[in-house]
Amino acid sequence: MPFVSPPQSPLQPLRLPLTKASGIALFCKRDDLYTPAPGTALQGNKVRKLEPVLRAALEVDTPPLLVSFGGAYSNHISALATAGKRYGLPVHLFIRGEEVDNPLLQQALKDGAGITRLSRSDYRLKKQPHWLDQQRKELARQYDLPEGTIWYIPEGGTTVNGARNVGELFPEVVNDLGVPPDFLCISAGTGGSAAGIIQAADVKTRVEVYPALKGDWMEAEIKQLLPAGASTNWGCITDYHFGGYGKFPQEWVIPSAGMATRADIGVEGLPPLETVYTAKLFAGVLDRIRQGKYPAESSVVVVHTGGIY
Ligand SMILES: *Cc1c(COP(=O)(O)O)cnc(C)c1O
Repeated sequence: MPFVSPPQSPLQPLRLPLTKASGIALFCKRDDLYTPAPGTALQGNKVRKLEPVLRAALEVDTPPLLVSFGGAYSNHISALATAGKRYGLPVHLFIRGEEVDNPLLQQALKDGAGITRLSRSDYRLKKQPHWLDQQRKELARQYDLPEGTIWYIPEGGTTVNGARNVGELFPEVVNDLGVPPDFLCISAGTGGSAAGIIQAADVKTRVEVYPALKGDWMEAEIKQLLPAGASTNWGCITDYHFGGYGKFPQEWVIPSAGMATRADIGVEGLPPLETVYTAKLFAGVLDRIRQGKYPAESSVVVVHTGGIY
């Protein structure tokens, strides 16, 4: 099946008592609805990041083996396995944790992905070219493919092209709004999506990046991904990690039918949010609205990056 880009995702106005009181116009860029395959893990920023590599893989004569890395609950891992099945591309996944098993990994196996579980210390070897070369040889043998057709995709799907492709959502927002927004807020894991948006953003738009992880290194990480001349009108808001990656306040949790934890943080009009990225982002933005960080009359766009977990 060829890769066909999904239609532009909607920009949804959010009318909350809080936004009325503060006089701002709040919008959600519903990139959770950006998907070529509704109802699957191939959605949100993971589609935007994978688009360039999927297109390239579908253009070559011998389909490459797409190899990537992630934690046992990685949205990227699920998205890539789903894409492999949908587009007929072989996929192999290196998963952090020797013992891990869960419905997400079961689904990836069902989708036909090969899986190697690595101990936490072995998982760190993926930064070493020598280790990657060794694995490439091993995978070529295992899948009976020439070594040149083994393609590595970094953790989180964050490549230079993938990140830049996430920036495509910025002109979509401007198109719907008529003007560039005053503020655009986005969550960050690797920072790839944020870097793509900063590159694409109008200099008048202040891009606020909300890391889902604890620490002060995200800004440097994003700078590494930015080309020379990118907008400098951006910054990291590091106060809303809620304890670190995967941690969140228990009072957010609502009963959910699926296997994933869902949060209600009082954003009427949106489906329940996942707790790793988007719930933290929205909680942060709402808190900053309460603190009066956004001047009256300003437009604030929050990017819903999607997320299965
Ligand atoms: C992966 C993911 C992110 C993080 O994206 P990065 O490009 O790695 O910063 C944010 N939100 C959701 C829902 C995700 O699945």
